[in-house]
Amino acid sequence: MFIGHFGVGFAGKKFSKSASLGTYFMAAQWIDLIWPILLLLGIEQVEVKPGITTVNPLEFTNYPFSHSLIGVLFWALLFGLTYYLIKKNLKTSVLLGLFVLSHWFLDLLVHIPDLPILIGNGTKVGFGLWNSLAATLIVEGLIFIAGIYFYFRATKTKNKTGTYSLIGLIIFLVLIYISNLFSPPPDSVQAIAIVGNAQWLIILWGYWIDRNRATV
Ligand SMILES: [Zn+2]
Repeated sequence: MFIGHFGVGFAGKKFSKSASLGTYFMAAQWIDLIWPILLLLGIEQVEVKPGITTVNPLEFTNYPFSHSLIGVLFWALLFGLTYYLIKKNLKTSVLLGLFVLSHWFLDLLVHIPDLPILIGNGTKVGFGLWNSLAATLIVEGLIFIAGIYFYFRATKTKNKTGTYSLIGLIIFLVLIYISNLFSPPPDSVQAIAIVGNAQWLIILWGYWIDRNRATV
């Protein structure tokens, strides 16, 4: 799942106006932001296996620290707590923690049973929507569109940049998503990790948009 997580981030302003769009993106996408780092460090592993699902060519062989339910609960608490210590806003801290957690439940929809519950060998879960391109596009597309709708309703632009930066990001995310779906699988784990780390630029883009839009 990719744009679905950003859809959740876009929806953040509907529930609390105080955090930046960049922070909401960071929370919703947090475990996919740390995953490439853990891959590069050799702590987690992935294999390229074209055809393992219709939509996604990766076999997630080992990613307990970023993608187990218990691991994500830990990250959610840490994320919310860190925000609370910095901003002293309980409501938004809880929301951000829930957004970190939302990632796992959205992944649960699309992944085949490769998401661990606990660290170590145990039950792995996943409903496998990735076996249907149409179902993946519908579910993820709807979440993305709903999130954007909420964001447009909760904010208004302060200047031209506030409009163009937002429209630009929406188009950019859709283009990456479509090209991922239809391009050949990545040729190495290194390539996956490098592209994955580049997602931090989308977080920065979120902060840039936020500075050029006001909440209503
Ligand atoms: Zn993920």
